[in-house]
Amino acid sequence: MTKSHILGASLQELEALVASFGQPAFRAKQIHNWMFQNLESDFAKMTNLPKALVESLQASATCSALKVKANQVSTDGTTKWVFETHDGHFFETVLIPTDDRRSICVSSQIGCAMGCTFCRTATMGFIRNLTLGEILEQVHYVSRHVRALDGGRVSNAIFMGMGEPLLNLDNVATACEIMNSQEGFGIAKDKITVSTSGVVPKILEWGARAPDFKLAISLNGSNDEMRSSLMPINRRYNIDTLLKTADEYIRLSGQKLTFEYILIKDKTCTPESARELKRIASHRHCKINLIPLNRGNPDMEAPSDDEIAEFERILAQGDFQVLRRRPRGPDIYAACGQLATEQKKVA
Ligand code: SAH
Ligand code: SF4
Repeated sequence: MTKSHILGASLQELEALVASFGQPAFRAKQIHNWMFQNLESDFAKMTNLPKALVESLQASATCSALKVKANQVSTDGTTKWVFETHDGHFFETVLIPTDDRRSICVSSQIGCAMGCTFCRTATMGFIRNLTLGEILEQVHYVSRHVRALDGGRVSNAIFMGMGEPLLNLDNVATACEIMNSQEGFGIAKDKITVSTSGVVPKILEWGARAPDFKLAISLNGSNDEMRSSLMPINRRYNIDTLLKTADEYIRLSGQKLTFEYILIKDKTCTPESARELKRIASHRHCKINLIPLNRGNPDMEAPSDDEIAEFERILAQGDFQVLRRRPRGPDIYAACGQLATEQKKVA
């Protein structure tokens, strides 16, 4: 029997669980406090629970279903974990510390079906969605790590690990709510970002379901020809359709949208594409996040510093904010979009 993962359980669901073991409702609150305030994942260490309840929990529930298979720390402090699921699959989570932030890069799926040509995760194909518990356990595990390290807490979360979060929308939305809740991980809503490759029908569904969280769209190409060659989804929903939906999302949610834009030498990082991107972003309630290509596809190269500077110079003439992502953890392949594991399913 697969044990039920209770990190994502509501208080009512926990009360029903403890009731099924013949225990009073207040035990549910105690378990919840252990999990979220003490960040405990071992029922045996929940010392104010009666032994019978601990045994019942151990037999049928879990809040730590993942095994750490590997852990790498970069010279810049970026830390990557490879987790193994109960059914023998591998996926990755990254902690990116800066002076004032502890950001976690969360995975939403094992592998990804979208087939983007620059992305290492795409080479795995799609294996399955992560469950709500598996998504939350990444935050739980990393929160415990950060607390042990320096008493701090995870301040930001981005769904830029493996997978397309809007194709696991229910679990990702519920995970965001629990990540934000004061009884959960207490991460501010505007510090939780979901990044999508542009699954058009899901963008408005997301906006209706979770309008207060941040949304980023991976644009990556400034015209249909280029974007289709990098992201097969563009053949289904072209840039025009995507932008119309983006505008509708902005109207619906009142949020500023982020466009992620990957910089690839001679492809997406040319003066012409900078001008196209400037036209796209102008007069939209958006900002641009430039991501220089990380090692992913041997046939693609990152642009030189001069080429990036020229690209930024053209964009700087626009009426929108432009940020450039600093490479983090390059020595451990920890950057977003590089999270394809060398491990293979064992069974
Ligand atoms: N599937 C979602 C979220 C995960 S990918 C999406 O595509 O938005 C997270 C980000 O990493 C995306 O913006 C993607 O364009 C970027 N990315 C993927 N591979 C990359 C690479 N090799 N170098 C730089 N960025 C990459
Ligand atoms: Fe999937 Fe995002 Fe990678 Fe594209 S960039 S293959 S959508 S994880």
